[in-house]
Amino acid sequence: WRANFSVIQKETGFVNGLITVLHDITEQEKIEMERREFVSNVSHELRTPLTTMRSYLEALAEGAWKDENIAPTFLNVTRTETERMIRLVTDLLQLSRMDSREYELNTDFVDFVKMFDRIINRFEMSKSKNVEFIRELPHTPIYLEIDTDKITQVIDNIISNALKYSPDGGSIHFKLNLSEDEVVVEIKDTGMGIPPKNLDHIFDRFYRVDKARARSMGGTGLGLAISKEMINAHGGRIWAESVEGKGTSVFFTLPNNADEDGEWE
Ligand code: ADP
Repeated sequence: WRANFSVIQKETGFVNGLITVLHDITEQEKIEMERREFVSNVSHELRTPLTTMRSYLEALAEGAWKDENIAPTFLNVTRTETERMIRLVTDLLQLSRMDSREYELNTDFVDFVKMFDRIINRFEMSKSKNVEFIRELPHTPIYLEIDTDKITQVIDNIISNALKYSPDGGSIHFKLNLSEDEVVVEIKDTGMGIPPKNLDHIFDRFYRVDKARARSMGGTGLGLAISKEMINAHGGRIWAESVEGKGTSVFFTLPNNADEDGEWE
């Protein structure tokens, strides 16, 4: 439903009525609206790096290529923008594959604790910021049937965001809790946080809280949307909690469908 409100106002300025028109947006219309918005977003996201590149290439062609001080910088900008477009197109292809009906998970039976620990190690080895990693992981294996490539990508996305939005000297907590029928993963940072009104939208395609800032950090705005699709495909849920200026926690769940010995129920 979509509501349109019209205020009936007399010349004297008194409000003496309010008309509410409720429109029933059918599922089909909604899909069509989302599709149009998506195409418009994609076009905009591709146009921005292309126009930037065009102006730098024009400047180079008009003589800047001869200037040893300027040329390398200009070429670097065009390379960065090309890389952004490659990332964007890769993300778009992935979303498009997931949208199609043939989308299938390629699952394996793995110890999720070990897998999570290894991913954290990889980030800890290569991080360029002074951010402390704190792990609260169980000491016993938790066997899950998951598509390891896809879940690795989800965890990569969340950890890269946590690092991106963390200040120097911050910390990231990695928690893994097991309940009867699911595993709950929490990745908690001490970064800038997300305002409450933006919180639900961060899983939408192309949504960024601060567009300019997120773009300058190289984000496509698709990472969490892709993660959400992947977690949904596994029958899990993904959400975030945040306090502005204090930090953000991103949670996701995965169904735990094996018993303690790792045998299928
Ligand atoms: P991006 O490619 O921009 O990182 P994502 O889909 O991964 O796109 O995230 C969407 C937006 O959610 C980001 O642009 C950012 O505004 C916000 N966000 C995600 N994770 C965090 C975090 N840990 N702290 C603060 N903001 C975050």
